[in-house]
Formats: sequence, structure tokens, C-alpha cells
Amino acid sequence: KKVAQVLKDNLLLILLLCGLVVGIGIGAGVRSKDPPLTTREQMYFRFPGELLMRMLKMMIVPLIVSTLIAGVSSVDAATCGRIGRRAVIYYMATTFIAVVIGIGLVLAIKPGKDASPVNEGSKPEPANTADSFLDLLRNMFPDNIVEACFKQTKTKQIPIEHEPVQSNLTTLAPDLNTTISPPEIKYTFEVRKENGLNALGLVVFSIAIGVVVSIMGDEGEPIRKLMECLAEASMKIVTLIIWYSPIGVMFLVAAEIIKMKDPVEELKALGLYIATVLTGLGVHGFIVLPLIYYLFVRKNPYLYMAGVAQALATALGTSSSSATLPVTYKCLEDKLGVSRKITRFVLPVGATINMDGTALYEAVAALFIAQLRGISLSAGKIVAASITATAASIGAAAVPQAGIVTMVIVLTALGLPSDDVAKIIVVDWMLDRFRTMINVWGDSVGAGIVAKLSEKEFEKLDESSEEIDKISEVRG
Ligand code: ASP
Repeated sequence: KKVAQVLKDNLLLILLLCGLVVGIGIGAGVRSKDPPLTTREQMYFRFPGELLMRMLKMMIVPLIVSTLIAGVSSVDAATCGRIGRRAVIYYMATTFIAVVIGIGLVLAIKPGKDASPVNEGSKPEPANTADSFLDLLRNMFPDNIVEACFKQTKTKQIPIEHEPVQSNLTTLAPDLNTTISPPEIKYTFEVRKENGLNALGLVVFSIAIGVVVSIMGDEGEPIRKLMECLAEASMKIVTLIIWYSPIGVMFLVAAEIIKMKDPVEELKALGLYIATVLTGLGVHGFIVLPLIYYLFVRKNPYLYMAGVAQALATALGTSSSSATLPVTYKCLEDKLGVSRKITRFVLPVGATINMDGTALYEAVAALFIAQLRGISLSAGKIVAASITATAASIGAAAVPQAGIVTMVIVLTALGLPSDDVAKIIVVDWMLDRFRTMINVWGDSVGAGIVAKLSEKEFEKLDESSEEIDKISEVRG
């Protein structure tokens, strides 16, 4: 009877894990088929997974906006400030610890010392550290809030066209026997908008509205009610989508495995690097975060982890913390009973800026690339790597493989060419899944800790609202 009850309670999780395993099996089976699937067939194969991603992403904007405005406006400004401060201190501290673990491991293991880099992948656009910081700030304050739902700002460096100097000279003086160095390419900068949700902008906007609505008191009540209602409705839709997630995840994983070029080659060339990243993520996820949770909450962190398992498995399947956000809400609120006042404030902010896994990964990857090039980094550069890796993780959007894009910030800070991400891009899809899991786990632990620390304030808040209710009852 007990077993049946456990199975019933965790049916979705079990289905999701089955989806992951069956997906790997199907992927491996279809891979070995001769002739291999064409790209069109691969696209059809991924389609059920694509639908899941689209459905989850569809819910991101309504969820972030409604839960943040409702969450922030339901507490007074002072409490809100205190919760916010706690959350931000937690985010910064844990992200920094993650980076330190990553750096420590990559310096100890030295995965790049004898590795032979695999061939080039696609080349990223050149930009530098300062540009990326400015973009981070630009995205915090979108000039158009509607556009922020589907566009981000990115500075691009564009080469300026040159006159063909060399050929002119050769026609003028054909027998001139000098070597002319090719003209230096000049660049111009353009601030562009690119497709992709600007979650940071939406978060800042929603918090601002939430704070003001809370200060407005009774006058702000209609907006608060509206947002609460929208949040409830969105969560109901999410419940339906979650039942589809095992099928979607199965096809997403299978399609990714089918798409892999030569797994054995990739593993051979980058095996130690993959192992370093995974060890770092493992240490952070299974030791450091649980320890921090226990220190503050004094409860078994692994039971808490079991409670968010559904969200972690979804993160593994979707590679996106924001697509996983709806599931994280469900786990924390429904399974673990974390107060909505906390989840609805802390989770959307966490999903957007708190990425321990990404920060750890960026630090390891940048130092790995330096090792591949045989460059030994000074202590100053290592400190620069840790700070920029933290910033790059904040700037990374919570979507698949965003981390590899913001790696440019870390690489340029170390004086490495940003094109070098090509050396690790082949295995990024896989590492992305694991770092996303740690990102989601970090957000969940943060919500648990902030909830514990804020318990007393909520009790006081509830008491005072009870008092107000009584007084108004007496006054009739
Ligand atoms: N995919 C990660 C996330 O959504 C971001 C990254 O690429 O590191 O959390």
C-alpha cells in the first residue's frame, strides 16, 4: 500500500525520469541506424520536444510579471527590502563559492594541459568586457517594456569596409618589390536588438511596479488582485503542461543524441574538461548547497532536494531555468510548502540572475582555454576571471546555451580571443543541461533559506493583519 502511495505521489517525476532514460535509449538506437536521419527528419523527430519548450516559454512572461508584482506588492516595502537583501546576499555568496570551486578544480586537474582541441565550431561576434557590462545595464532598463518580452540589447562590433589598398599599389607600381602588410581592419560599434526575452528588464520593471503598488495601499489593491489572479490562472495552465513534459523531454533528449557528431572523439578530446565541470557542479550541488541549507534551515537538505526533483529533471531535459521556472514554483509551493510570499518574489529573480552552475562552468571553461593555449595566468588574472565569471552568469539569459555567449566577457578579461569558445562548443549542449540543473537547485535552496529567515516577519505581518481585521470588525 505504501509503495503504491509513493508511486502515486511521485507519478509525474517517475514518468519524467522514464522519459529521460527512454529518450537516451531511442537517441542511441536511431543514431546507429543506417542511413542516418536527414536534418529534416531530425527536425521532425525533435518536434514533440519543441512543443514542450514552446509551451513552457509561453508561460514565462505572464508568470514572471504576475508573480513578481503580486509577490512584491503583498508585503510592505521594508519587509520586501529585507527579503530582497537576503536573497541578493545569498545569490552573490553562493555564486562566488561556485566560481572558487571551479577555479580550484581546473587549477588542480589541469584538463587543458595535454588536451588536443577539437575542430572549430561557429564563431561568435567580437565584443569586449566593457560592452557586455553596458549591455547588462541596458537590459536592466529596457526602453520599451513590450519589446523586452521578445528582444534584448546587444552591442556588436562590425568591420568597416576598406578600399583594396594593396591592389591599387600593385597596379601603380607593378615591380615594386616590397611586402605590404594587409590593412588593419577597423570596427564600428552598433547597439542592436536581438530576438530573445529580456528577463532582467521585466524583473526590474515588475519589482518597481510591485513596490509602488504596495506603497499605494488600498488604492493599489485592484492591480494586486489582478496579478494574483493572473498568477493563479498561469499556474493552472502550467499544471497541464507539466503532464506533457515526460513526452517532450524524451524527444528533446533523443534528438540531441541523434544530432551529436562523433561522441567518442568529442569525449576523448574534452573528457577531462567535461569531468572537471561535472565534478565542480557535483561538489557544489551535493555538498556545498546542502550544507548551506542545513546551516540555515536545520532540516535534511536531501529531502528538500527530493522535493524539487521534478524541477531538476525538467532542467536537465530543457536546458533552461526560465522554462523550468513554472515547475520550480509547483515543487516549492505544492510539495515543500514554501510560502508564496517568498517563492513569488525570490524564484523569478533567482532564475534570471542567480546561476551558480553557469558561473562555475564559465570559470572552468575560460581557464581551460588558457591552458589549451599554454598561457599561465597570474593571480590578478585569476581574480579577474572569478569576478567576470560571476558577472557573466548574471548577464546570461536563462535559456539553452546562453552561458557560452556571455563567456566572451571572461575570455576578453583574460586577454584570450573570444573566438576560442569554438574549442568547447561541441560539448556545450551536454554541460548546459547539468549546469542548468544546478542553477535551478541554487534558486530553490535560496528560496528555502530566505523563507526560513523571514518566517518571523510573516508571522508578525499575519498577526497585524488579523488585528486590523478585528478592529474593522468591531468598527462594523
Ligand atoms: N541554460 C542555462 C540556464 O537556463 C544558462 C546557461 O547557458 O548557462 O540556466
